[in-house]
Amino acid sequence: MLFLIPQIPKHQAYRLNKHIRLFFRRLANVDGTSNFNPVSNYFHSEFANWLNRPDQLTLKSHFEAFFDRFKVLPSAQRLLVVQRFSNSQNIENILNDILIDGQLFQAKTIPRTLRPLVKELFKYLYQTTLVSFGQIKDHYQSVYNMLETKTCPFCGIERLNAPSLRKQDYDHILNQSKYPYGSVNMRNLVPMGTECNRSFKGSTDVIYQATARVKYYSPFILSHAIKVSLTGSIPPNDFDTTGNWKVKIHPNNTYTRRWEAVFKIKKRYAEQMLNGCYVDWMKDFKIYIKRHGLPTNSVEIRAKFKEMGEMLLENPLSEPNLVKGAFYRFLSTYTNRTYNRAVMDFIRS
Ligand SMILES: [Zn+2]
Repeated sequence: MLFLIPQIPKHQAYRLNKHIRLFFRRLANVDGTSNFNPVSNYFHSEFANWLNRPDQLTLKSHFEAFFDRFKVLPSAQRLLVVQRFSNSQNIENILNDILIDGQLFQAKTIPRTLRPLVKELFKYLYQTTLVSFGQIKDHYQSVYNMLETKTCPFCGIERLNAPSLRKQDYDHILNQSKYPYGSVNMRNLVPMGTECNRSFKGSTDVIYQATARVKYYSPFILSHAIKVSLTGSIPPNDFDTTGNWKVKIHPNNTYTRRWEAVFKIKKRYAEQMLNGCYVDWMKDFKIYIKRHGLPTNSVEIRAKFKEMGEMLLENPLSEPNLVKGAFYRFLSTYTNRTYNRAVMDFIRS
């Protein structure tokens, strides 16, 4: 929501889902007399070759088990499976158009005998094949490199992992256990901060609020330069108590409200940031005004708060200062002429 996440449609990670889509299209011609082998009947040659590798026996057996159960379904059910899979693939439409019945893509609408095999197959495709065939770690590296700020785009208060440390969690926008057909669809998969993914969004069904169908947003298509206001809040009286924070999000629209609800943004900003960082931030303020002139009355104090607030909001997604302070301190000792000249040019640009 805070900024867009780039898509890399040419990346190998996207090819896996293309192969799955082709497989489902070819299933339209399958009936009780069909044989799974040779797999080149149902898969593009690139993926057929992959399936025939000696190290892909497990994957092949998942496909075969699914296929053998699928082919003996009544023809009307086979047709429905193929159609629903196909309709499940336009993630942006499903998120955005509340007239689309999202339940049609849920596991519960897959024929009962086929359902466990679909789940097993797609779980394996996500956990194993997207890593090996899809090179998802390399995908994360590429996305990370393209991001201007390495902050979680969903909350703005946690950092994304450097790819050399660990691949970030990938969130299934439509969660995988309920919507298995989106398991390896890269338009449904997005790197997300660990806290956002595991502690807050979790397995939330983003397109339903209780039983009501609601709009959600694609993080590849929609973002807002979110602003926060705290009008009406009461800050703590001392360092031992907490404040009563009224967090307001701007702009306030269908998408930002749903985003806020899914990621518990107001609560996290109030508890983790405003209360959790209150003492540190007041200390920072004290340091700032010591350097920039001590105020003599409350009007001047408030003017200094404004100065500091506006200074920080020039770079709203910046990180805490333990390392940042050391960085500036180091640069104050770094006398490389080329570097210093480049900094001067940067400042004047
Ligand atoms: Zn986050």
